[in-house]
Amino acid sequence: MAAVRVGVNGSLGRMGKVTVQAVQSSDVLELVFSADRDDDLGALIASSKAEVVVDFTLPSVVFENTMTIIKAGARPVIGTTGLTQKELSLIGDELAGRGLGGIVAPNFSLGAVLMMKLAAEVGVHFRDVEIIETHHAAKVDAPSGTARLTAKAIAEKRGEKTDDAHEERDLPCRGGLHHGIPVHSVRLRGKMAQQEVVFGGMGETLTIRHDSISRSCFVPGILIAIDRVLKISGLEIGLPL
Ligand code: NAD
Repeated sequence: MAAVRVGVNGSLGRMGKVTVQAVQSSDVLELVFSADRDDDLGALIASSKAEVVVDFTLPSVVFENTMTIIKAGARPVIGTTGLTQKELSLIGDELAGRGLGGIVAPNFSLGAVLMMKLAAEVGVHFRDVEIIETHHAAKVDAPSGTARLTAKAIAEKRGEKTDDAHEERDLPCRGGLHHGIPVHSVRLRGKMAQQEVVFGGMGETLTIRHDSISRSCFVPGILIAIDRVLKISGLEIGLPL
């Protein structure tokens, strides 16, 4: 069987480099281009006949990149964060109109995705829950996207109205209430990325903890998404786990 033709956009960035290496190491994928900010993405897709393009760029350019990928006839696998609901809906329409598949996944780490699923399940049985997420000091956002998504997943599974309006970024104590769930954000030199979801019950606690040890944790999820995007039509959000 012919290898799947994959292009990587944002290839000089931290995630782009990891993705280029993952595609090059795969027996079933072929890296047909690697692009960054000074390249003409549409022209590269056309000349390389890429079937799938993985994008790890910037929130400010991801929508335009995604539309370029689709209009050039390739299937987008988007890891870049920051797409709005309206943009996601426009992307979905464009994909459906062309009969192409596309995946937007805010988190490719299998452990992080499973942590969210498990937390949502446990949250039905344990009412009391707090999230403690700890990251390196250079992380700009607080709480993390994963913490907010975890709170949302718990609230949704409980059938509660979700509300992510409350966000505090610059206080000495970072965090806030998200979807009604207290989130504590620790930013410390020497730390990388960790999240604990702590549930309290009568005479017991239950803690789900995920540690990211290196960016290679995203590779299995990226490979799953590349395989999946060839089989679907329209937009899917998140990994099919
Ligand atoms: P980075 O800053 O290291 O890399 C971004 C790259 O994009 C840079 O090389 C930059 O030159 C390039 N770029 C900027 N504008 C471009 C354009 N118009 N066209 C092509 N390339 C362009 O960032 P990073 O740490 O690799 O993260 C990239 C994105 O991925 C961020 O939004 C981050 O939050 C997200 N991310 C997602 C996951 C996930 O699992 N989905 C994991 C980690 C990071």
